[in-house]
Amino acid sequence: MNAVKSYAAKSADKPLEPYQLDRREPGDHDIEIKILYCGVCHSDIHTARNEWGGTMYPVVPGHEIVGKVTRTGSKVSKFKVGDTVGVGCFVDSCGHCRNCAEDNEQYCENGHSQTYNSLLQDKKTITYGGYSSHIVVTEKFVLSVSDKLPLEKVAPLLCAGITTYSPLKHWNVKKGDKLAVVGLGGLGHMAVKIAASMGAEVTVLSRSKSKEKDAQELGAHHFELTTDKENMKRLGNSFDFIIDTVSAEHDYNEYLALLRTNGVMVLLGVPPTPSDVAAFHLIGGRRSLVGSLVGGIKETQEMLDYCAEHNITSDVEMINIDQINEAYERTLAGDVHYRFVIDMASLN
Ligand code: NAP
Ligand code: ZN
Repeated sequence: MNAVKSYAAKSADKPLEPYQLDRREPGDHDIEIKILYCGVCHSDIHTARNEWGGTMYPVVPGHEIVGKVTRTGSKVSKFKVGDTVGVGCFVDSCGHCRNCAEDNEQYCENGHSQTYNSLLQDKKTITYGGYSSHIVVTEKFVLSVSDKLPLEKVAPLLCAGITTYSPLKHWNVKKGDKLAVVGLGGLGHMAVKIAASMGAEVTVLSRSKSKEKDAQELGAHHFELTTDKENMKRLGNSFDFIIDTVSAEHDYNEYLALLRTNGVMVLLGVPPTPSDVAAFHLIGGRRSLVGSLVGGIKETQEMLDYCAEHNITSDVEMINIDQINEAYERTLAGDVHYRFVIDMASLN
């Protein structure tokens, strides 16, 4: 066991604070990583505050990790000490169910191991995430990161990037498709960049007028204010796809009405409370309401390589670890441009 520094939430209503964590010694197939940067995902906040239920305290969040390999187990073949690597939302899965066999570990039928607030495959060891100095991960779940791009801007690709890339690929979004992104935050701004790079005509649907200029700079072709109800009516039957990244309760029906015939609305955001959906919005226009969870390891590597090739990174605001609680408040207020990333050197 190795004691490492981290930041943890000890209960739902307390700020995160310094916490000493034990990491396992790297086993034969493990990689030990010194974490350089970790992005701050809204899922970290939902979990730290137990908004989805099931949080095991103390919880060390963080699943947008970039760092350097410091040690490798004797049977590791993919990586060597000094390599730049990434870890995303998962650190293991059963490896043999139908979904794992098809490289969809995120849908592991026997329960995947998430990077934090989850159990390893022994079903008893709790996982702790990237708000820490080091992490130990089995090599199959470690991603190779190009040194071509600024690493702090690459970190958010490990969750926000793959979570938006995966549905765009799965539903085959292509040149000329009219696609709307709801919510311009961490996931939303990556959805804009990646969908635009695939040739889609991108509209940002936001409640924040102040984000209009940014939306265009990020690559969106149009910006529409969702708080303007007349405007929303005018947008009826406009889009082939809607990527919904909103983290709080909102009316899905209002957005379903904006889809064209056969249009698809993909839920990525996970509001803590369920919402009603009126059947009429689906049957009138043969519309689909679907969801998507992050992406598999193979697809995450494909996304990292795609982003390196297309020069796509996240727009980030760097913070020190002791600013994490303030960053949570600003994220909740929609005041993030467009991902907070922790400089882990500040932990020492
Ligand atoms: P974020 O940076 O906070 O962005 C969420 C955006 O939603 C905000 O910037 C805001 O955009 C909009 N929004 C927030 N509250 C709203 C409200 N009350 N009404 C309407 N719009 C609101 O969060 P994120 O990190 O992108 O994560 C977004 C959601 O996706 C979270 O629920 C997170 O847990 C989830 N998530 C899902 C997956 C997955 O695999 N499906 C992966 C990662 C995260 P505007 O100001 O532009 O309106
Ligand atoms: Zn995330």
